[in-house]
Amino acid sequence: MNIPESKFPRIVIIGGGFAGVNLVKSLANEKVQVVLLDKHNYHTFQPLLYQVSSSGLEPDSIAYPLRKIIKKNSNTFFRLAEVENIDAQKKEITTTIGTLSYDYLVIATGTKTNFFGNKSIEANSMPMKSIPQALNIRSLILQNFEKAAISSSEKDREAYLNFVIVGGGPTGVELAGAIAELKNHILPRDYRDLDSRTMQIHLLEGTDRVLSSMSEQASKKSEVFLKSLGVQVHTNVFVTDYDGKGVTTNSNLKLQTETLIWAAGVTGSLVNGLKAESMLEKTNRYVVNRFNQIAGYDSIFALGDIASMSTDEYPNGHPQVAQPAIQQGKLFGQNIMRIINKQSPKPFVYKDKGSMATIGRNKAVVDLKYYKFGGFFAWFIWMFIHLISLVGFRNRVIIFFNWSYNYINFDKAARLIIRPYKK
Ligand SMILES: Cc1cc2nc3c(=O)[nH]c(=O)nc-3n(C[C@H](O)[C@H](O)[C@H](O)COP(=O)(O)OP(=O)(O)OC[C@H]3O[C@@H](n4cnc5c(N)ncnc54)[C@H](O)[C@@H]3O)c2cc1C
Repeated sequence: MNIPESKFPRIVIIGGGFAGVNLVKSLANEKVQVVLLDKHNYHTFQPLLYQVSSSGLEPDSIAYPLRKIIKKNSNTFFRLAEVENIDAQKKEITTTIGTLSYDYLVIATGTKTNFFGNKSIEANSMPMKSIPQALNIRSLILQNFEKAAISSSEKDREAYLNFVIVGGGPTGVELAGAIAELKNHILPRDYRDLDSRTMQIHLLEGTDRVLSSMSEQASKKSEVFLKSLGVQVHTNVFVTDYDGKGVTTNSNLKLQTETLIWAAGVTGSLVNGLKAESMLEKTNRYVVNRFNQIAGYDSIFALGDIASMSTDEYPNGHPQVAQPAIQQGKLFGQNIMRIINKQSPKPFVYKDKGSMATIGRNKAVVDLKYYKFGGFFAWFIWMFIHLISLVGFRNRVIIFFNWSYNYINFDKAARLIIRPYKK
């Protein structure tokens, strides 16, 4: 791997997501050698993936090179590699580019899409966890529009213009709203030979309300917003199968569609090698203590989505959103130095800053601890928070410009089939 020997302890971090990047930043000037490994050479700002899928943003505006993040950290090395195995006895990891020893290992690998074991859904549906997957969705949506425009069969046309999104969490709700804006503003202008009213967007949710992780008020308001945009919301509906053409559910609802977007859940991206007792079978998360140390291991830690830290307030672990990952990354940087310097680490306490989701232009919902609201102001707050949270000044400027342009022109300018999606 061409990592030089060092007189300082080596901390190997797997994953340059929210947790890994914040940890790397906090170790910049410390007397340690840091090695960051990721299977991508960039950090992905996942909360805006849906805008790439729906042609609102270019993919490079939500990605940031990991080497650029560490460019001023003389103690840090980046290697583009997927970690395949951990040998805790030897204190060594195996990756796609070789093996590496560590003094301290930090697993911050996040999650991957959960298909709940349904192979047919996995083979035929579209997940949205990475930039390449978001681009696949963008291409497929636009390819479907093109196919619908030349199709002489009404049945085929309907299937091309039917979009089914499974999962009424923030990802599903935001994507459904964004696709509805394509229907309302782009289709009538770009595809004058198509009747945009034939396009349908169905959002299927297994529980009795969308945004079930937020307040009832937010759920109700977002459902009203979605309906006003023309999205058909189906609650208490579980998808049981999808063969690439037809969706079957546990209810009478059956849909014909060429596009099923799967946003119904995630499961931990575990790395092979650790004991079964160190992880939770249901969620595939590592069990960690208040210092992010994995149960049964002294020098292996887990941060962010992949870590399950049980506290009185969060007995099943923290929510799998960006803030716990960011906060754990920052605190762990201090804690690992305390551990190395034989001082006591500080227990992690999550500061919940609230949650939010946007449904479309001027439409968002925000839940703060003592105040819940929706509409234009919520939408404005949503945009502001996302802009300041992005990594990189250039990305902030580009996204601000794009949003302003799209807002004034009712446009989504990135509707390009750069890399056609083959089903
Ligand atoms: C579509 C979508 C929308 C979201 N919207 C929001 C939102 O609006 N607000 C919010 O707070 N949260 C949102 N989230 C959740 C949020 O993105 C996650 O909680 C957050 O990214 C977790 O950070 P993390 O560092 O734990 O993992 P991640 O950010 O997922 O990073 C994990 C990193 O590990 C790398 N990796 C994984 N396995 C390996 C391996 N074996 N070897 C090498 N590298 C590996 C990956 O490439 C990745 O870079 C959203 C997530 C998705 C998918």
